[in-house]
Amino acid sequence: MEKNQDFSTYLTEKLNQNDLDAYSQKLNSLNQDVNIRLEVFLTAKKKYHHQLITRHEYQQAKTSYQEAKANYQELIKIKAFKNNLTNINGLLKATPQSDPSYQTVVNEQKAAQKLYTEFKEVVKSQGRWGNLEKLSSTAVEIKNLAFRYDEDQPLVLDDINLKINHGEYVAIVGHNGSGKSTLSKLLIGVLQPDEGSIKIFGNLMQDSNVEKVRQFVGIVFQNPDNQFIGSTVQDDIAFGLENHRVDPELMPEIIHRSATRVGMENFLDKEPLMLSGGQKQRVAIASTLALDSDIIIFDEATSMLDPKGRREIKEIMVNLKNEGQKTILSITHDMDEILNASKVMVMNQGKLVRFGDPATVMGDKEFLRSIGLELPFVSMVEDALNNKGIKVQEGAKNLAELVDHLCTLK
Ligand code: ADP
Repeated sequence: MEKNQDFSTYLTEKLNQNDLDAYSQKLNSLNQDVNIRLEVFLTAKKKYHHQLITRHEYQQAKTSYQEAKANYQELIKIKAFKNNLTNINGLLKATPQSDPSYQTVVNEQKAAQKLYTEFKEVVKSQGRWGNLEKLSSTAVEIKNLAFRYDEDQPLVLDDINLKINHGEYVAIVGHNGSGKSTLSKLLIGVLQPDEGSIKIFGNLMQDSNVEKVRQFVGIVFQNPDNQFIGSTVQDDIAFGLENHRVDPELMPEIIHRSATRVGMENFLDKEPLMLSGGQKQRVAIASTLALDSDIIIFDEATSMLDPKGRREIKEIMVNLKNEGQKTILSITHDMDEILNASKVMVMNQGKLVRFGDPATVMGDKEFLRSIGLELPFVSMVEDALNNKGIKVQEGAKNLAELVDHLCTLK
């Protein structure tokens, strides 16, 4: 592996644009190197878990990745461009204005200042792990979004416009094939829009920053078995942290804290075999909490669970909503779940046909029926009672509220 000495020993000489270009190229190549070795390491980890390779082979892949990462980090930390500026600042201070070389030094100082600013930009844009800032409190802003899988196919998403504030819990409902999963793939950058734009916390998603924008978005998928990669619960959570280059020393505390939030702190040493589907999904949620994703997408995360598991996950989602620190987008067929949400998006044939609070959206029962959606269970009961002439107050969020409303009947 190449070393960085050409840059770390830099610098008794003044630096210029060529040096920065060379630095930028080198950083880019080391960055790619880390990514390649990371892929190899992650694959090796899975294979080792399934006993397809030896521990030694696994260790080799791990060491190789760690070396590449260390090399990269070393290069990011170099002080050369800063020292270059400090030196010339010193020289400028020591040069009296009357000195014939004064103007030259002033120009050199300006050039060094500019070079240092550009250096920081290079690190920010090519240092894959430089974090993006939140430029807005709007977690997701979608404008005129259109997408199709093939040019000769119809639009799968057609002129979607919406804004979701940070802290909202949005349930996304719609018939199969209405475009819900496609939307989630666009939000995590797996697909790119054909038209329109997606901003995450004010950052426009584009090819060049997809990886970074993803720092804001975690996703929990439908199948709990496909999400478990580690050989134990703590390994599994650690896996995501390694992937995001979290300092290993900080990991145990982060793992414990996030597992505690989903009630899995006593299962850290357990293997996936020992866990129920609901528990595996809780671990998947813990992983996104560990990464501190501000937005969590649940892509039918409860649909393969038994009633108990489903209840557990829904409870966690409601807790997260109440804490107000996360934006939750939940694609769901569970019409009862939407009563927990702060807003509901109804998708139909690629279009966003309703977007509002659950009571309003659920109030339009005829419309929901016309696009083939079921009503939540409590709404159906309310309907049936009203049809029988029992005028119960509408809009109960759950069975308990419905019972309360029934008890107030005279
Ligand atoms: P939903 O999640 O609401 O069920 P999807 O986003 O999965 O809807 O699908 C929307 C439409 O896009 C459907 O007509 C589906 O057949 C089509 N589709 C989904 N994935 C692909 C793909 N990989 N290639 C081509 N068409 C696809």
